[in-house]
Amino acid sequence: MSARRFMITSRAIRDGYASFDGELFNHIVRVLRLSPGDDVQLIDENGVVHYGIIDQVAKEWVAVKITASGPVADSISIAPRITICQALPKGEKINLILQKGTELGAHDFWLFGGRRSVAKLRDSQQDSKLERWKRITAEASRQCGRIDIPDVSWRPSAVEAANDAGHELRLIMWEGERDHSLKESLSVGSPPSSVIVAIGPEGGFDPLEVRHFSQRGFQPVSLGTRILRTETASIAILAIIQYTWGDT
Ligand code: SAM
Repeated sequence: MSARRFMITSRAIRDGYASFDGELFNHIVRVLRLSPGDDVQLIDENGVVHYGIIDQVAKEWVAVKITASGPVADSISIAPRITICQALPKGEKINLILQKGTELGAHDFWLFGGRRSVAKLRDSQQDSKLERWKRITAEASRQCGRIDIPDVSWRPSAVEAANDAGHELRLIMWEGERDHSLKESLSVGSPPSSVIVAIGPEGGFDPLEVRHFSQRGFQPVSLGTRILRTETASIAILAIIQYTWGDT
């Protein structure tokens, strides 16, 4: 099994050892049940990867003996930065989208209030919801061994989201699209540096929203004739883009 990766701060390293207590200890020892002799990779805030072997597991802390250190392989930098521009869905669906999107390598999530979003986000809820959403991406990053944590941001409407997009390739998932195939949109020459994909809520996009996205350079693309749930569309398109240009 390839070594598990954890994000650390370089402060945890002293005299050739890294030691952890708290959440990271709990994840390594209690959740993953790693034990002395297991290989780990520790990525610090400077983009340095420290290769190590678990040396000691105590009641509330774990020590890793560092065997080598070096820059993180730049394989990760060739994949385009993928932004999932997601209309807020009902209930807890957003948790699934954030978790699976993080596992599938989304660079960041722009959430917005779709005209047909059933769920509404009041200003007073914004901070607490963003905090909760960021906890989900942080936890998912740790679980899948990512060396970065996707950011989550909020925009009140599709218009703001469309206006903010400066990505090289812009797609809007539109089940009504019949002319433009996804294959065409993804068969551009070299991989784009950045991609943003807009996905509508349960009630879909309002035609005015589709028009605004199109005016901002978003290409409507279809995932076929079946109507997918918003979370299915979000996860599927991310996997397809990663398969086409990413690091999977
Ligand atoms: N308009 C849909 C209907 O008639 O039931 C409702 C929207 S669908 C549940 C949620 C979102 O997923 C859509 O706004 C779209 O972004 C995406 N989506 C669903 N099926 C799709 C498909 N076949 N092709 C492209 N996008 C799709």
